[in-house]
Amino acid sequence: MLLIKNAEVYTPARAGRVDVLMAGGRILRVEPEIRMPAEYCEVFDAAGLVAVPGFVDAHVHILGGGGEGGYATRTPELALSDAIRGGVTTVVGCLGTDGVTRSLAGLLAKARGLDEEGISTFVLTGHYAVPLQTLTGSIERDLLFVDKIIGVGEVAISDHRSTQPTFDEFVRLAAESRRGGILSGKAGIVNIHLGDGRRGLDLLRRVIAETEIPATQFLPTHINRNPGLFEEGIAHAKGGGFVDFTTSSIPAYIAEGEVKCSEGLRRMLEAGVAGTQITFTSDGQGSLPTFDEQGRTVGVGVGRVTSLFPEVRDAVLQERVPLDVALPVITANPARILKLRGKGQLAAGHDADLVLLTPGDLEIHSVVARGRWLMKAGAALARGTFE
Ligand code: ZN
Repeated sequence: MLLIKNAEVYTPARAGRVDVLMAGGRILRVEPEIRMPAEYCEVFDAAGLVAVPGFVDAHVHILGGGGEGGYATRTPELALSDAIRGGVTTVVGCLGTDGVTRSLAGLLAKARGLDEEGISTFVLTGHYAVPLQTLTGSIERDLLFVDKIIGVGEVAISDHRSTQPTFDEFVRLAAESRRGGILSGKAGIVNIHLGDGRRGLDLLRRVIAETEIPATQFLPTHINRNPGLFEEGIAHAKGGGFVDFTTSSIPAYIAEGEVKCSEGLRRMLEAGVAGTQITFTSDGQGSLPTFDEQGRTVGVGVGRVTSLFPEVRDAVLQERVPLDVALPVITANPARILKLRGKGQLAAGHDADLVLLTPGDLEIHSVVARGRWLMKAGAALARGTFE
């Protein structure tokens, strides 16, 4: 048992000074003045610290990705220590551009490995391409038979790297994912990779207008990648859809018009978008290619899960978004939208995933995942098998 005492708690709603009691990997109680005999329980005095739910990063290329500048640019797998440093206790793994040298079997194995190392994982079936590659032969079977598979993606549209799916192909894919989700009690959500193409959200708008599939079946990502797409995202979210920002970035992207996530969150809220419609993800381990004017790759970096929380921190410290408004984009919102049971909240019955932050500058101080310390007072207490 672990009792975190005297922290300023955000569940992510502001709960004031309460104690959090955890046992067996779950949260038992979140209440003022919990007392437990010391022989049964580790008591940690977190006075002066801020306790928040462990972060959920719902779009991470845990198996590595990329290769967009040739074989040498294939990016490495996610290391546990990066997740720990980033306060990320739950990741949703996905494949990206490359679904040939990267496979769903490999993705699932990597996800199970990260589970064994101490964090929680889910995966998406498919990758950029349509028709979709699945593990068991169909999207519905994947959702019904593989516990970790919770949806589809990232399917690429409006991008030069997309397989340019037709309207009918795209609708069929979304319909299968919806049915599989309904039958398995999962979200069955379609994670859509949006490129810089002029068509933007056209395909999505057409599905919503012409079929019975609701806007909430989709989680379009990279919504902050250019000013036009950002504005389309505002309209999509005000119409009831979800929008996902990508926190991994490089200065060149911002210079070209990418909207910094912290600023984008404030602007969307000011534009009247409900905070519940917004998520941030890191696109961790994805490649960050830079292209010249002819579309040739001229450089490649790697996204990091450690980019996730700093954008929430910047939203609070620089953009003056209240912490209880900013936190849900990496906790309660992705957990709710993706139906990740037991995740994203500090509440009785939920998984014991918790991050302690320093007051004022909001630095990550400690990380607990499924009731186990992964970082304590800045010192990592766990690492990946080969780290
Ligand atoms: Zn993408």
